[in-house]
Amino acid sequence: MGKMATGSPQIANPARLDPSTPWSLTQLLVKNQPRYMMRLIFLGPPGAGKGTQAALLAERWQIPHISTGEILRQAVADGTPLGIKAKSYMDNGELVPDRLVIALIEERLQQSDTKRGWILDGFPRNVPQATTLGELLDAISQPCDRALNFEVPTDILVARMLGRGRQDDNETTIRRRLEVYLEQTEPVIEFYRQHGCLTVIDGNRSVEDIHRDLLVALEPQATTHS
Ligand code: ADP
Repeated sequence: MGKMATGSPQIANPARLDPSTPWSLTQLLVKNQPRYMMRLIFLGPPGAGKGTQAALLAERWQIPHISTGEILRQAVADGTPLGIKAKSYMDNGELVPDRLVIALIEERLQQSDTKRGWILDGFPRNVPQATTLGELLDAISQPCDRALNFEVPTDILVARMLGRGRQDDNETTIRRRLEVYLEQTEPVIEFYRQHGCLTVIDGNRSVEDIHRDLLVALEPQATTHS
């Protein structure tokens, strides 16, 4: 008759699970893993692949991936007061003023999904932001575990950014973003090195190789959480 016999496995083909089901396949897999506590800061130039790696880890550990760039792009798309203020800076490859991004991060880190940690991607982007973040994390008792710096040669960065075709990924803006990175963001690496919590990652490899490296570097040191 072509119909499945009663008593056959309920999930014959997991890809065909009803999307409204409370247990997605990912959740089923994650459920059996230790629940890690992770608070990470991802550093590196634009195009270094921070966002890709942050998304993979956030999914695996079920913690929020907090990308200031994504939050700002969404604010621009939604036409919120923050988006209206941030748009021209972003279009020109400049940093959005500190007071705006700091307020955004302060609010985001106090939401209820941050209890088992977070991955910050794109923040802090200068030393004043790093200093303020340190004070904020002290105040809310959420110390950062590690800062990871993704290293990628400049010619590769430019090629990657031109390839992804985001609105702010034209050649002029890319050049400016790299300059801003060298002037303002690179000193943040030294800031975390001096705090003794910096790990350098070779970002000029495949997504899978980097992901595997991150798991090896981070999971054995992590505390687990019930
Ligand atoms: P990329 O992936 O190229 O590094 P992001 O998506 O992180 O870029 O950020 C895009 C833009 O958003 C930046 O060029 C900048 O204008 C703004 N932005 C993001 N994070 C910050 C921050 N911490 N401080 C100031 N501006 C920021």
